[in-house]
Amino acid sequence: MLLVDNQVIINAKPRYLVAGMGDSLAVLFEGRACLKNEARNSLGAKQPFFAVALSQYCFDMLIKYGEQAKAACETKVVTPALERIIEVNLMTAGIAFEGTGLAAAHAIHNGLTLIPEVHNYIHGEIVAFGVLCELFLSDAEPQEMDLVYDFCERVGLPTTLAQLGIANFNRDTVFAAAKMTVEDPYLPHEGKYITAEDVFAAIVSADAMGKARKAKA
Ligand SMILES: [Zn+2]
Repeated sequence: MLLVDNQVIINAKPRYLVAGMGDSLAVLFEGRACLKNEARNSLGAKQPFFAVALSQYCFDMLIKYGEQAKAACETKVVTPALERIIEVNLMTAGIAFEGTGLAAAHAIHNGLTLIPEVHNYIHGEIVAFGVLCELFLSDAEPQEMDLVYDFCERVGLPTTLAQLGIANFNRDTVFAAAKMTVEDPYLPHEGKYITAEDVFAAIVSADAMGKARKAKA
């Protein structure tokens, strides 16, 4: 049984709801990678069809209602948009990810935790940046990248390394995080032949895109 008191959610910092959205954001992209690479899901099984459909549902709800849900949380009111996002964060995304599996976004999250400054950020915030890196790593369509960056910017999820506390970019440190990512058991779900150089390039590209969009805004 999953029991959620909406009053607890609206009385907590909106940052937690947003971080939850960052974690839920990963489900579609990691699930897609697992399917493409015939990786097994979190239970060691093949992806059930409904879990794949659920991961798309999670993404659609975030894009459609994420911003409204955050606003409701900030003003401490319960609205249908907030209820939809609470349901996605606490239930639907959980069922979806267990059914589909994890890949680069979580592997990059794990790699980035090598950098001490990142420890001040919540799991979902780091995962959201991992999703942006995963888009580069998987050569996603530019249109899709725009949609995901736009979502992150609208709800306030990090799109640059500076927003994860890494204000002064150090090539060696970030490369060490990329190396640790490659050793992560989830990374092969993204592809069998991904190197530390590939991951490093994805991290740097995701950060550059985040910065370029901010400069334009
Ligand atoms: Zn997670």
